[in-house]
Amino acid sequence: MKSNLSHVLMLAGAILAFVPIIAVDYLLDAYVRYKEKTIAQQYVETVSSQINLSAMDGVAALRKVVAESPSLCTPTFVTNAQVAIETSLNIKQFLVENNDNVQYCDAYGRIVAYSPLSQVLPVPGLTETVTVVKFAEMAMPALKISQAFGGARRVSVFVPLLSQSEAALSEPLGSAAMMRVTLTNGLSIVAIGDPASFDRRPANTEYVSAQSYAGQFPIKVELAVPFAILRANYADLDAVFTVLACIASAAFLLLNLSYARRTRMPAFDLERAIERNEIKPYYQPVINLRTGELVGCEVLCRWEKRNGQMIMPGAFIDYAEVTGLAIPMTLSLMQQVRNDLGDLCTTLPDMKISINLFEGHFRDGGIVEDVQAIFGQSPISFRQLVFEITERRPLNNSVATTSVIAGLHALGSRLAMDDAGTGHSNLAYLATLGIDVIKIDRIFVDMIKPGTTQVPVLDGLIAMAKDLDCEIVAEGVETEEQALYLRARGVLHAQGYIFAPALKAAAFKELALALGTAGAPQIDAAVPGLISTAA
Ligand code: CA
Ligand code: CA
Repeated sequence: MKSNLSHVLMLAGAILAFVPIIAVDYLLDAYVRYKEKTIAQQYVETVSSQINLSAMDGVAALRKVVAESPSLCTPTFVTNAQVAIETSLNIKQFLVENNDNVQYCDAYGRIVAYSPLSQVLPVPGLTETVTVVKFAEMAMPALKISQAFGGARRVSVFVPLLSQSEAALSEPLGSAAMMRVTLTNGLSIVAIGDPASFDRRPANTEYVSAQSYAGQFPIKVELAVPFAILRANYADLDAVFTVLACIASAAFLLLNLSYARRTRMPAFDLERAIERNEIKPYYQPVINLRTGELVGCEVLCRWEKRNGQMIMPGAFIDYAEVTGLAIPMTLSLMQQVRNDLGDLCTTLPDMKISINLFEGHFRDGGIVEDVQAIFGQSPISFRQLVFEITERRPLNNSVATTSVIAGLHALGSRLAMDDAGTGHSNLAYLATLGIDVIKIDRIFVDMIKPGTTQVPVLDGLIAMAKDLDCEIVAEGVETEEQALYLRARGVLHAQGYIFAPALKAAAFKELALALGTAGAPQIDAAVPGLISTAA
């Protein structure tokens, strides 16, 4: 479960690591859109404010000339008009007409040859009107700003719409840009690019667009550029962004990997720990409940790190089994057991040493050869060895399994069913496997509370073991009541904290020799004494 979760987290982390790369396009698009929109807006505002300034210049000049000239077309009016033209960059001409466009006078005494492009338009907030007009000699349209004078006459001033040429206007724009100046009634005055494309822009093409009005004048400036064209100009930045994103992704991946490495550290370390013999055997005494004698021990293990840290087997046993490291680990433990207990086994020839095997040991005959190789030339005889098989994971009844059991039996060793009662085995299964010893799991021993007179499950297990003619070892015996209950049911051997925890080799040997030489005290007297010896 735990490793599944960490795999999912690692996978999620790996996917997340690519988010920056995926996000580059999105971020850069958003950046280009924002930046180009700002540029486009600046452009249309510059153009529209020029139109507004030019027109307002015309309005001001018109009002000034009219105010300073008591009547139109007098020498004073003409002089004032000429002065206004000379002192302004924008004012081109003055004209006095009647409502039928009959010209009375202008600043230079000639006919003003223009043609209107638009209707006469009111300007909100101003008394003047504006008309877009065209002079034959000028490419850019002009504005005619007029004031009514008396009942029948109009006085007008002409200003250019824009001072720049069309070429100058289109210069800051790319070739794909479309710019136009229109009246608010829709009449197009100036168009750069394909003016028609404003009205039939393909719906599936994205545009960066902007628009602005020339102050109070009914004139609008619009700009539109296809986004893809603008985006292409950022190819360099794209590369920079992608590189940055790759760096970010790589950094994230490295973090992720180092996290994974850290959380799986035991995985990386265990193999080395086995090679360095950091997995140490600890010996838990097995006691005869009738005599108090030490009859043997179970080899348990601890991971003693070089830094002094000690790790209990629960933290690495499952990992060892899954990875197959349980095989070399057991090999290392057996070698250390031979070195630790060789002398003791000579002194106590009936002492049994119980060694835990794993499901992987039953897939081929390697374990039988290893046992032979390690204990064959040692003071420890094969018949002093018991090999425990856990019932938690049922062994398959294959040829390999039975031949391993047969091989160990042939050496004279015995086999124990570990954690009995916790798995799914039944009588027939145990019988076919050829089990010699049944180790009753601690959960059944725990059921014996003070005052308990019977525990049906436990009693059933004991009866079953006796039917199979198996020796019984009770595990996890922690109280005197438990020891006495088991003894009353005919359970001969037990291990647990009431007697001793798993001990280092030196402490175990000391205890074994003390018990061995002390003879066989009765359990009632022996139990408290053993606790103090072990502590
Ligand atoms: Ca065991
Ligand atoms: Ca056990």
